[in-house]
Amino acid sequence: VKTHTVVIVGGGAAGISVAASIHKRDRNIDIAIIEPAGKHHYQPGWTMVGGGVFRPEVTSRPMSEVMPAYVSWYQKTVAAVDQDKNQVCLDDGSSIEYTALVLAPGLELNWGGIEGLEAALGSNGVTSNYREGMASYTWDMVRNLERGRALFTQPPMPIKCAGAPQKAMYLSADYWLKHGMLKNMDIQFHNAGAVLFGVPDYVPALEAYIGKYGIDVNFQSTLVAVDGPARTAVFRSSDGEGNSQDREVSFDMLHAVPPQRAPQFIRESALANEGGWLDLADDTLRHKNVPNIFGLGDVSGTGNAKTAAAVRKQAPVVAENLIASLRDEPLRAAYLGYGSCPLTVENGRIVLAEFGYGGVLQPSFPKWINDGTQATRAAWWLKAKQLPTLYWHGMLKGREWLARPARR
Ligand code: FAD
Repeated sequence: VKTHTVVIVGGGAAGISVAASIHKRDRNIDIAIIEPAGKHHYQPGWTMVGGGVFRPEVTSRPMSEVMPAYVSWYQKTVAAVDQDKNQVCLDDGSSIEYTALVLAPGLELNWGGIEGLEAALGSNGVTSNYREGMASYTWDMVRNLERGRALFTQPPMPIKCAGAPQKAMYLSADYWLKHGMLKNMDIQFHNAGAVLFGVPDYVPALEAYIGKYGIDVNFQSTLVAVDGPARTAVFRSSDGEGNSQDREVSFDMLHAVPPQRAPQFIRESALANEGGWLDLADDTLRHKNVPNIFGLGDVSGTGNAKTAAAVRKQAPVVAENLIASLRDEPLRAAYLGYGSCPLTVENGRIVLAEFGYGGVLQPSFPKWINDGTQATRAAWWLKAKQLPTLYWHGMLKGREWLARPARR
């Protein structure tokens, strides 16, 4: 059995950032990352690809390029965690032993949760910016659709980047508006939830855009089935009292977002909370029952918005607390639930939602970029021009830009 002081599961936004933050604090710590994928994706860029702003190539890099030279990379998949033996079990039957474990495997997109969706994706106007490589098909559809009905769907919470289903819709509508096609479009938003956005302060700004684009908003309307060749979608609406009704809607374009859950090896383990997510303390990001396990990123059961922006603030907290735990010192760093969602309400303007636990607004950018709850050009500039560089060269390298941990 191989042994490392710190084993990190997942080499996505969270896994690479936390490795960098640990190394920055103590260069002598022996770190391993277990990550099967050959590519690393900057998923926040997929919305921009779907809106014709970014080229798809800029959102992915070979994993070997982002994997730091100082970590031991196992290109394997973790099948289970054995917290009693301090080991992770890999899918090839081998095991790796750790002193401290960081779980950062992201979440699972449950495409199978919507009947027919997986088979329908990529043709007949059925697309999803959540699918690797498919955002460019969204853009093709938007550019080529001259009239008809476009459906945008949002599954039950929690999902990663809760605003992204709407971002795709606003960018599409903005294109149709600017090219004189909007009047020929019937745009419908079908949201499994009951509100436009979970933090009420941002809702008025979004509602203004809903009005401007003439979008028909359907709450508690969940996509349950898709028939690509017939171009029909089935929505289940509920009245909140256990009564539900199915309705078939035909479409020319469908942007679908699948329901999401924790990866199976977490969901079905003793490390999960009731919802199946990793059961972490809100502030320290240490597992509630197993003191040498930490976690961050989308797998986390903490009540923050699942975003790369959250990871930016979580990585230094995990790094600091994990090192403290290795040294038997008290955990002092605290995560206050920061998450952010740059809502691309039109090409050129963004409502930059930044908030912590309980929806408390937590602006982290200067006021000229984020001056509250309105759309600004500066926030678009940040997202389109600055954030990708900050991601690849800042966050993934342990440069903790505006991310100093709070104290407990
Ligand atoms: P990921 O980055 O998904 O990485 C998880 C990694 O774990 C993967 O590399 C995977 O291969 C690996 N893994 C999985 N299972 C195992 C296993 N069993 N063993 C080993 N490794 C495993 N965030 C923002 O901040 N702003 C945005 O504007 C934004 N927009 C988004 C738009 C879209 C369309 C999408 C899809 C996401 C968006 N996000 C946005 C969310 C952001 O991408 C995620 O929150 C972020 O990537 C989470 O990082 P993570 O490391 O937890 O998960």
